Amino acid sequence: MTTTGLRITGLSKGFGNQAVLQHIALDIDEGEFLILVGPSGCGKSTLLNLIAGLEQADVGEIHIAGRRVDGLSPKDRDIAMVFQNYALYPNMTVAQNLGFGLEMQRWPRAEREARVLEVAEMLQIVPLLTRRPAQLSGGQRQRVAMGRALARRPKVFLFDEPLSNLDAKLRAEMRAEIKLLHQRLRTTAVYVTHDQVEAMTLGHKIAVMNNGQIQQFGTPEKIYHRPANVFVAGFMGSPA
Ligand code: ADP
Ligand code: MG
Repeated sequence: MTTTGLRITGLSKGFGNQAVLQHIALDIDEGEFLILVGPSGCGKSTLLNLIAGLEQADVGEIHIAGRRVDGLSPKDRDIAMVFQNYALYPNMTVAQNLGFGLEMQRWPRAEREARVLEVAEMLQIVPLLTRRPAQLSGGQRQRVAMGRALARRPKVFLFDEPLSNLDAKLRAEMRAEIKLLHQRLRTTAVYVTHDQVEAMTLGHKIAVMNNGQIQQFGTPEKIYHRPANVFVAGFMGSPA
C-alpha cells in the first residue's frame, strides 16, 4: 500500500482582490517528485509558499505524510525549502551552513558533525567544508543550499526554481544530480520550474498551471502525449 506524500484540497488564495490560486487540488504518493510548471506569474511560488507555511490560504487543506499541516507554523511542517537565491550565511563556513538547521534543533555536536559529513559526501563537497560562501562558484553554492535542506531529512523538499540562475551546462549537470539524489533518498518533493525540460526529466507527476489554476495534473507521458487543452499542448510543446 502506498502512503500519501502530499494532498491538497480546495485551496484558494487571493492578494487584495486578485485571485492568485483557485481551487487547487493535488495528490502525490510518498516519495514522488511533483513538478509545478507554468508561465511567470501563474501562482507557482504562492502555492509552494502555502505548502511551506510562509503564506496562509483563504480556504482549503494541506496534508503532508497523512498529517494536516495548514494550521501549523513552517517549522512544524517537516519541510525544507531550496530557493534560486540560495541564501547561505556569508560569515559561516560551508560546514556551519550545512549544520545550522541541526544546531537550531539542538542536535548534539557529534551527531551534527556526522550528518554534515554524510551530506557533504553525498553532494561531493567535502573539500569545500572549511570555505565561506564568497569562495564558492554558483554551482557549489547551490549544492551547499541543497545540502542544508537534505541535512534535516524532512518529509517534503520544496524547490523554487533552484537552477534558474545557473548557465545551461551547469543546469543540466545539477538536473541530473537532483534526479540521482532523489532516486537515492526517495523523499517526497515539490519542484517549481518554468522549464519544460526540467519538468519532463524530473517529474513523476506534473501539474501544469496557468492563471492560478491547475490546467492538467498527471504523469509526464500523459501531459505530453494527451494534453488536456490547447494551453497545455502549447506550453509543453506537445506534438500537434
Ligand atoms: P510564479 O511563481 O508562478 O511566477 P507567483 O506565485 O509569484 O507566480 O505570483 C502569482 C501572482 O500573485 C502574481 O500576479 C503576483 O504578482 C501575485 N503575488 C504574489 N505574491 C504576492 C504578494 N505577497 N502580494 C501581492 N501579490 C502577490
Ligand atoms: Mg515564482
